[in-house]
Amino acid sequence: MLDNLTQRLAKVVKTMRGEARLTESNTAEMLREVRLALLEADVALPAVREFIAKVKEKALGEEVIGSLSPGQALVGVVQKELAALMGADLGPEASQLSFAQQPPAIILMAGLQGVGKTTTTGKLAKYLKEQKKKVLTVSADVYRPAAIAQLESVTKQVGADFFPSTANDKPVDIALAALDWAKKHYHDVLIIDTAGRLAIDEAMMQEIAAVHAAVKPIETLFVVDAMVGQDAINTAKAFNEALPLTGVILTKLDGDSRGGAALSVRHVTGKPIKFAGVSEKLDGLEAFDPARMANRVLG
Ligand code: GDP
Repeated sequence: MLDNLTQRLAKVVKTMRGEARLTESNTAEMLREVRLALLEADVALPAVREFIAKVKEKALGEEVIGSLSPGQALVGVVQKELAALMGADLGPEASQLSFAQQPPAIILMAGLQGVGKTTTTGKLAKYLKEQKKKVLTVSADVYRPAAIAQLESVTKQVGADFFPSTANDKPVDIALAALDWAKKHYHDVLIIDTAGRLAIDEAMMQEIAAVHAAVKPIETLFVVDAMVGQDAINTAKAFNEALPLTGVILTKLDGDSRGGAALSVRHVTGKPIKFAGVSEKLDGLEAFDPARMANRVLG
């Protein structure tokens, strides 16, 4: 991922050999390369701008010490800022899920259709079951009976409990009925999968906001497909405005060769990326590691 960034940086480190310190002009040259590499990686322009501005500010104030060349020093700044933008500064707790003191903890899954919401709901159920939590899932997707059946299937595969719903029910009623059931049966966690559309849609946003208002989830997770690159910025903006998101799950990271989505979504939401989906299989979920992601970006 972002292989070009490493190559571009290596090139600039070479050309900066012989320079004694980071200056406005040699820094600008290197930042041009970083900017191009990020744009090639399909990072949205506003996120690129923010990143470049931060690196510039840090780099010009940076002492170039010891055996480091200015080029190497700048690479160090890029690396550190990349990790920070990915969420490294938020601390390791950022990727953890919150649990209500009074169970069940409710997790609301939000995102467009096809991003992997239902699969990820199954993956999360598995992950939480492995932490000895009693998990109930429910689908509030009343438009696609196939989506309800799909959630039932993945839930059963991981051995969690499934609350059935039908296309005749209203999403808010489904969520409240599942919550009631979860309370009565002492579930620790209720995961609510919601309807996605192929594109941002006002009715969809109102519907999920109504579900949110009715059950007041402790976690509202925005699920986004890493393959969409900078398009993620618009979807993230819309969901972030409609819902008080608590975190992000980046899916299909196994297929992503560029990585623009991670930076763009962080830029827009400021919320931690909590998990990454790394395969179609139900064990393909990993805690998101900002530093590792930044290293992977730099190669
Ligand atoms: P939904 O419409 O958002 O509920 O999406 P689905 O859960 O139905 O997933 C859509 C497609 O993406 C399915 O073919 C999934 O197997 C696939 N998928 C989901 N997560 C991942 C992932 O992390 N990696 C890969 N490679 N495929 C995924």
